[in-house]
Amino acid sequence: MDQNNCGSVIFMNSPQYNEARQVFNRSIQKLPASIAYCTNEGDTAAAIYAARHSGRTLRVRSGGHSYEGFSVGTCADVIDVSCMDSVSINEQAGTLTAGPGVTNRVLYETLGAYGYPFPSGTCPTVRVSGLTLGGGWGLSARMFGLTCDSLLSATLIDAQGCRHIASEEEDRELFFALRGGGGGNFGVTTSLTYRLPPRLFDVTYVELNASNVSKEAAAEFIRRFQQWLLTEDCRFTPIGRIFHSPEEPRGLTFWGVYYGGEAEARASLEPFVSLGMSGIFEEMTFLQAIRIVESGYPPYEWFTNGGRFSYMPFSEQEALKIVSLLDCIAEGSIRAAVSLYGLGCAVSEKKPTETAFFYRDALNIIALSTDWEKPSAKPANLAWFSPRYRALQELTLGSYVNFPNLENVDYMRAYYGGNAERLRAVQARTNPGHLLDFPQSIR
Ligand SMILES: Cc1cc2nc3c(=O)[nH]c(=O)nc-3n(C[C@H](O)[C@H](O)[C@H](O)COP(=O)(O)OP(=O)(O)OC[C@H]3O[C@@H](n4cnc5c(N)ncnc54)[C@H](O)[C@@H]3O)c2cc1C
Repeated sequence: MDQNNCGSVIFMNSPQYNEARQVFNRSIQKLPASIAYCTNEGDTAAAIYAARHSGRTLRVRSGGHSYEGFSVGTCADVIDVSCMDSVSINEQAGTLTAGPGVTNRVLYETLGAYGYPFPSGTCPTVRVSGLTLGGGWGLSARMFGLTCDSLLSATLIDAQGCRHIASEEEDRELFFALRGGGGGNFGVTTSLTYRLPPRLFDVTYVELNASNVSKEAAAEFIRRFQQWLLTEDCRFTPIGRIFHSPEEPRGLTFWGVYYGGEAEARASLEPFVSLGMSGIFEEMTFLQAIRIVESGYPPYEWFTNGGRFSYMPFSEQEALKIVSLLDCIAEGSIRAAVSLYGLGCAVSEKKPTETAFFYRDALNIIALSTDWEKPSAKPANLAWFSPRYRALQELTLGSYVNFPNLENVDYMRAYYGGNAERLRAVQARTNPGHLLDFPQSIR
């Protein structure tokens, strides 16, 4: 976000236009009609009014990290909320209030200065509204739940310019929808208030790797990852990854933040060490650990990615099938990967119908991705991805709306399962004429 854009509207003939229209996934190149950098609710309502009269569709953007670039669109008007980035803590009330444009980095730094962790995501430039509206998985999910589980209330300007406050006390259906119903569907969220987690200083940062492993070892890694999630140790929410790059045909990596000391972390994660993985177990503050995680993210990438849910541990044969998805990589790919994100514990304490995030009882998210650097490599990578994602769909159930992919054809069922009808009803009230519209919006 360029601070100089705050309060202005960028059009196609503006010198800032080419930079302003970019999103994190640089393989997505859209040409919006206008981008309004709103700074408050009044600006937002005015931009909605202008879009209603332009006859174009409207998109909302905060951090621009939607995998499919749903926050921008060719010929669409875009409301960008990244300038609404104030954040304040009320320790007495035990709450944090954030503008929709607050980044994960600012959130963690602000809370870390007071000694609080927070169940937000891993990428420093993802912004809280996009993350929370889709659920929000992070390295504290098993301990404190999804990001949306800490949400106490949100303010939203709907597609007709009306202001709503959503909480357990006011407009409960909208509050239900804003916790996992996906961004860009109901209006523009302009403020979010969260419950603070308990203050906590020291954690153990864990990062384990293994190089050039056999297919069998990679399959065993998946099985141990899932078995480990079934243990009752809620103090760790790992990410595990199997990857294939031009330099390394099959590598493993596993990392996270253990809410406990080094000795406990080593004992709990012994199944991974005994698999031959080695690396770091180091005690530090939560903020220091998060800074290490954040340092791994570039400012932008070229990629396709899609995330599914698994409910049961995979059989040996299924795990081998998943490993086989990475036997070869696409021309121009710099890395293909299968990533596993731990769920369970606090995530599954809520019922599937308590919030719009339906897949409460899943064991983990499992995502397939391929990244490239030269724009010309896009077709080969999409062609590589498509059949493999379909194969993954056969072994899994439902898709994570924050890891969307156009390959999810029956997307309402995939993202929302048994909550789809309720979300359609909320959408019909707040966005009746589909002013807010994108390829996988609620319909
Ligand atoms: C590198 C990377 C790492 C990631 N890591 C994680 C992770 O650890 N955990 C996780 O859960 N997800 C993660 N994600 C996915 C990310 O959470 C989602 O893409 C999220 O929706 C991004 O939010 P954003 O505001 O940055 O993106 P945007 O593209 O701006 O927004 C995403 C969606 O939300 C809508 N939206 C945004 N702001 C508002 C608003 N104020 N009001 C209404 N609608 C809005 C947009 O219209 C769009 O549909 C990651 C994504 C990337 C690219």
